[in-house]
Amino acid sequence: MKFGGTSMAGTERIRRVANIVRAQAARGDEVAVVVSAMAGETDRLVTFCREANPLYDPAEYDVVVASGEQVTSGLLALTLQAMGCKARSWLGWQVPIQTDDTHASARIENIDAPALIAAMQGGQIAVIPGFQGVSPHGRVTTLGRGGSDTSAVAVAAALKADRCDIYTDVDGVYTTDPRIVAKARKLRHVTYEEMLELASVGSKVLQTRSVSLAMKEKVRVQVLSSFVDEDAPGADSLPGTMIVSDEEVEGLDMERQLITGIAADKNEAKITLTRVADRPGAVASIFGPLAAASINVDMIIQNIAKDKGETDVTFTVPKADLLRTQALLEQRKEAIGYFRLISDDKVAKISVVGVGMRSHAGVAATMFKALADRGINVQAISTSEIKISVLIDEDETELAVRVLHSSYGLDAADAA
Ligand code: ASP
Ligand code: MG
Repeated sequence: MKFGGTSMAGTERIRRVANIVRAQAARGDEVAVVVSAMAGETDRLVTFCREANPLYDPAEYDVVVASGEQVTSGLLALTLQAMGCKARSWLGWQVPIQTDDTHASARIENIDAPALIAAMQGGQIAVIPGFQGVSPHGRVTTLGRGGSDTSAVAVAAALKADRCDIYTDVDGVYTTDPRIVAKARKLRHVTYEEMLELASVGSKVLQTRSVSLAMKEKVRVQVLSSFVDEDAPGADSLPGTMIVSDEEVEGLDMERQLITGIAADKNEAKITLTRVADRPGAVASIFGPLAAASINVDMIIQNIAKDKGETDVTFTVPKADLLRTQALLEQRKEAIGYFRLISDDKVAKISVVGVGMRSHAGVAATMFKALADRGINVQAISTSEIKISVLIDEDETELAVRVLHSSYGLDAADAA
């Protein structure tokens, strides 16, 4: 069981969490609980580090920011004990959760936890602070922001858990953002790959890394809400969204829709370089320097050359990197050999995602027709096996999401 920062924010909420944990243990399950710091706490601690030393040493930063989870794990153990449950906290170095020594963004290397497993078998609830581990040199590490989802999946994998229930402030994964489309539906199942595609295009229910890890380790993950009434059905009845393998979904859900979800992402900006020479090495000279500067390029379009052996190249980068990208490319204008650099940060990427499109034709045609009927212009397109993304004017984001949601039959009333 994993509880996020909003679920852990304060004594009252921790008591609600403890009640949920106690109910699960009372069903006879051995339970390990991974917790986040109280909402806002990690930001507060990061600010202290910046104030103390703007050029902070990441190893000491880790000592500071890991404390948020130390506090909540101890408090949850205390609260469970106050309810008469056997419980104790296991800090990262005590489990141990072994990571590499990349402080502030460490990767988990191994969790071998015989003492923790023995304690759980003896009926003790294990409470583990998320986000933290221990380096090969015995120093405290943290996994990068949002890392406690990854901690939870890693612990579930190490314990060979039946399920990893991630309790959060939403009750599952939806076909699209319910704030945009009131008829969005909660999905009962979504595959790891779909979840990765949806996460990478903006639905931030889980840290992306945790989903990759769950896929690799075959951990069945449920996303569900911790804010439910005491008499609500328990986690075992799967009230949330299950994230599982392709095979499991095929077996479970015969009536599955072709498209699983629609996501919108307003964090990309578009750049076009006009009249780039159409010769070997031209695009390498554009994207090489961006890669060296760790700028993540997403969509790329290059047309066939026109008569003069020149072509336009369009691509997208994160909005936060737009200025850096422009500066890098302007410095190299001569070397690359282009005519003009045109940028636009008023764009949105709309993606339709679903494993069903692997075996169906016409998914893209439906998308383009639906957008065309509303006069929405498509500026760029990219696809993967289970995703089609288009770049459109940012002002048309909500309209596009609504139109696509109903075109693919995802609106709640249409569902069988
Ligand atoms: N507390 C950490 C953060 O805010 C880790 C987490 O909550 O997942 O990034
Ligand atoms: Mg989180």
